[in-house]
Amino acid sequence: MKTAGLKKSFEEFFGDGKEPEVYRAPGRVNLIGEHTDYNNGLVFPIAINLSMYGLFRPTNKDKIRVYSENLDKFEEIRLANISQRGDNWTDYVRGVLSGLESQSETISGFDLYLRSEIPVGSGLSSSAALEVVTAVGTIMTLDLDKVEDLDLIDLCQKAENDFVGANTGIMDQYASYLGREGAGLLIDTSEPSHKLVDLGLDGYELLVIDTTVSHTHGNNEYNRRRRECERAVNAINETTEGEELRSLSDVASEELDGILPKLEEKLAKRLEHVVRENERVEKAAGFFQKGRIKEVGELFYASHASLRDLYEVSSPELDFLIEFARTEGIPGARMTGGGFGGSTIHLVPEGQADEYLENASQEFEKEFGITPGSFPVSPSDGAKFQN
Ligand code: ADP
Ligand code: MG
Repeated sequence: MKTAGLKKSFEEFFGDGKEPEVYRAPGRVNLIGEHTDYNNGLVFPIAINLSMYGLFRPTNKDKIRVYSENLDKFEEIRLANISQRGDNWTDYVRGVLSGLESQSETISGFDLYLRSEIPVGSGLSSSAALEVVTAVGTIMTLDLDKVEDLDLIDLCQKAENDFVGANTGIMDQYASYLGREGAGLLIDTSEPSHKLVDLGLDGYELLVIDTTVSHTHGNNEYNRRRRECERAVNAINETTEGEELRSLSDVASEELDGILPKLEEKLAKRLEHVVRENERVEKAAGFFQKGRIKEVGELFYASHASLRDLYEVSSPELDFLIEFARTEGIPGARMTGGGFGGSTIHLVPEGQADEYLENASQEFEKEFGITPGSFPVSPSDGAKFQN
């Protein structure tokens, strides 16, 4: 952990005074359950061993001063206009603070020093970690009323949705706050509610390989998929008797055969992905718990194929890495995150990760002329469980 010298760095930047308090929020990676969150379905993320650290010290100034070591950027947020957008990275901070303010909390001045181990934009959710560390640290430092878990998660998500303008589901903030060491979070996004599931990873490691490619049309396609799913819900409600669906996750797998032929082809594909992916999440959680990694791995490959062929959100770079995993005989691999670039997650037998990664990187470079990023990840404690 990069905590060494953190307090010293804080004092060098902000000056001597009362010792700052250190808070931490981790990044996350989704093991399985992709594009199911906004369909009221199941997701299965872990909090990871890479965190954002925030050092907080209250001041009697009429502003919040915040420094990001990674960006080497310093900004001041006046208390009087917390809820004004800064149109920069402080919007994640402002969004959370204005969320707290709208719960009738009084925000007073403090200094905040940020240092992060989470790569930005690799799909490991540095943004949620920034929101969660801001929320937790501010509540503790300013001695605000405690917030219920789900309210805190919700507040952070709203900061991202309403303040930053990123239309993301609740998974990232959930995992960053409530993840547990050695466990995955099986989240039912329709409630939302969650169960902790121990991961029997004995003999295996989780390796994230980042294509480092971010396709510019990814955002548009994401919004298009959301609209297609809404259209599919409406189409099913129009053509089917019985109770109205709220989301595609309300369709039971036994109903698929009856419904799929009635839908236009594209919508049928989206529906099939969502329903089967929910099933895979449930099965994978069960297999993980029993340490049956071979079975989990097959579900990973099936999830990837479905994202590629039915949901159509993969990319040549992602497909290449998953094909590579297959040919190397790795138990399982899949794209993780929204798609069109971003990261992949691999289940690698212990001790083989270095060699596997070296070969994968070499082949990837030969094919695309790009060096991929890589991060060994392990299920770690969320921000609620400071350590
Ligand atoms: P990710 O997949 O990493 O969450 P996003 O685009 O959702 O990617 O969020 C990344 C944004 O979060 C950055 O552009 C920046 O505004 C903010 N951010 C992440 N890490 C830091 C940091 N260490 N310091 C300041 N801002 C950060
Ligand atoms: Mg993000």
